[in-house]
Amino acid sequence: MSEPREEVLLGNEAIARGIVESGCHVVTSYPGTPSSEILPAVVRFKKELSLNTHVEWSINEKVAYEVALAASYTGKRAAVVMKQVGLNVAADPLMSSAYTGVKGGFVIVSCDDPGPHSSQTEQDTRFYALFAKVPALDPSSPREAKEMVKAAFELSERHRLPVILRPAIRVSHARQNVEFAPVATLERPADFVKDPGRWAATPRFRLQLHKELNEKLDSIREEFETSDLNTSLRGQDRRLGFIACGSCYSVLRDTLKEWDLEGRFPILKIGTAHPLPQKLVGGFIAGCEQVLVLEEPDAVVELQILDKGKVVGRLNGVVPAAGELTPEVICQLLAQKAGELGIELPQEIDTGHLAQLVADLGLPVRRPRLCPGCMHRAAFFGMKRALGSKAIYPGDIGCYTLGLNLNAVDTCLDMGGAVTIASGLYQAYHQDGKDVPIAATIGDSTFLHSGVTALSSAVHNGARFVLVILDNSTTAMTGMQPTADSGVLADGNMGQRVAIRDLVQACGVRFIEEVDPYEVREFEALVKRAREHTRKPNGGIAVVIAKRPCVLYDASPLQENPVRVTVSEDCDGCEYCQIAFECPALVLDENLGRVVVDRRVCVNCGVCIEACPKGCIVEAGE
Ligand code: SF4
Ligand code: SF4
Repeated sequence: MSEPREEVLLGNEAIARGIVESGCHVVTSYPGTPSSEILPAVVRFKKELSLNTHVEWSINEKVAYEVALAASYTGKRAAVVMKQVGLNVAADPLMSSAYTGVKGGFVIVSCDDPGPHSSQTEQDTRFYALFAKVPALDPSSPREAKEMVKAAFELSERHRLPVILRPAIRVSHARQNVEFAPVATLERPADFVKDPGRWAATPRFRLQLHKELNEKLDSIREEFETSDLNTSLRGQDRRLGFIACGSCYSVLRDTLKEWDLEGRFPILKIGTAHPLPQKLVGGFIAGCEQVLVLEEPDAVVELQILDKGKVVGRLNGVVPAAGELTPEVICQLLAQKAGELGIELPQEIDTGHLAQLVADLGLPVRRPRLCPGCMHRAAFFGMKRALGSKAIYPGDIGCYTLGLNLNAVDTCLDMGGAVTIASGLYQAYHQDGKDVPIAATIGDSTFLHSGVTALSSAVHNGARFVLVILDNSTTAMTGMQPTADSGVLADGNMGQRVAIRDLVQACGVRFIEEVDPYEVREFEALVKRAREHTRKPNGGIAVVIAKRPCVLYDASPLQENPVRVTVSEDCDGCEYCQIAFECPALVLDENLGRVVVDRRVCVNCGVCIEACPKGCIVEAGE
């Protein structure tokens, strides 16, 4: 069967297609919004085209980076994929590999999350390009993202440097018709040529490599001056010009078209965000009275502009210093600039129409909550019942961060942060001779990502706390990617299983117990015993593995053993269950003055029977 010539693709799928068409041999990743769809799409194309590409969900971004980098050392093409905060984890090899350089094309796809929609920070990956002194390309659409992947591999091989492709969320998650091209067949048998002065350089050689890196960067900048990755559009009205990057460029073009202003103002689209082609940018600015820079999430291009005399943007507060540049924000900026410059707009601008349309729908405002039947809720509820509100609850990154709503997550820093924060809190109180209950929670994937090293350090240094590993058998928040504990590989085949329990044991933990958190009383009793272990003279850290599959990932245990509940007429509507347990299926019926079960969302887990202290939630009869 021949391949289709064109398909509507998600930006991330277009990036995957670009990776495959470039003849890339090795693709590694750790999931994280907005990058998670890229590796599964590579797997899809690999299967459709019967390719020999090695794909893997690595245990974390640093590991993913280094595995792909090593493939590049052998002359193969390699790509590593992650979200922007993932690059913090991989920053160490990024900095070092900029010095050593690469052999086969090596592309880092790091997806940014301006907003942020699903991240701890809205940091700008492009700053890492400046920091590490590597090139960064910034696509404005899915179609361009695919082409930029190819350009990135070629650039990487020409200059023997890692190259960053930085799509922001509106490119990663946009959809567009994308043309397919043939897949490059690159015969690259692995050929690692020993060169200790490069691959194992000592500090003396590193100085030389740094000078070499600076020279590479200068020649890349020169190349970017005439690169077709940047686009200059003419405009007669030179009182205002735009420098625009990424999806801001697409929004700007659409808005000007909608306002009958297409072609009026000069626009410079910068696709090569670093190193900035200074002559191109300087020449553009010289031809305008004022230039508005539109980029996100931060002022990376603006910061690199040498003469900012005519430039306005994020740095001088004209563009908001934080947050996504949505179409509404860009419309407001354009309307404001037009007004200031006395430019008459050909039609009345209504910047708030989209927000108004949404408001008119009258949708109820709902805060994010754990799903009905979620095992995390049961675990948090049992944990709170065991240790009360005086305990400190360090949390971690995952859907279980929503334990915040149940007052069962007091801190959330980064991947693995629950274990280190718990350890640090213990040491701080212990120093003052105080014994404060501390119970940390971390997901299975997050534990494998960064919890293992933290736990071994905590054990080694004598910390004492309860660690609840919320093991729902998948990486739920980012789309059900398999974990190493499941043994399933990125392409669906089985690999070697890495058991969490064995890792915990290997870290030196003596108290390890596993329990189904749906068994709330048993779970509560176990957490109490775990706490006691932390206080015994010969005790230490106690690990409780709360094990039950995510209800969205595997509903079969619920289907096999449904527990249908009802709320009795004795319910007085005190709302305790709604506040302390927060299942979306328990709703207050204002007319009845009591809580009822919303059958449309209830999944018959039966855990809420434990949530009413007055025993009003009961198993329903036939
Ligand atoms: S079910 Fe129980 S906890 Fe919930 S509102 Fe009724 S009486 Fe209160
Ligand atoms: S049985 Fe109770 S806890 Fe489970 S989904 Fe239904 S209402 Fe929620």
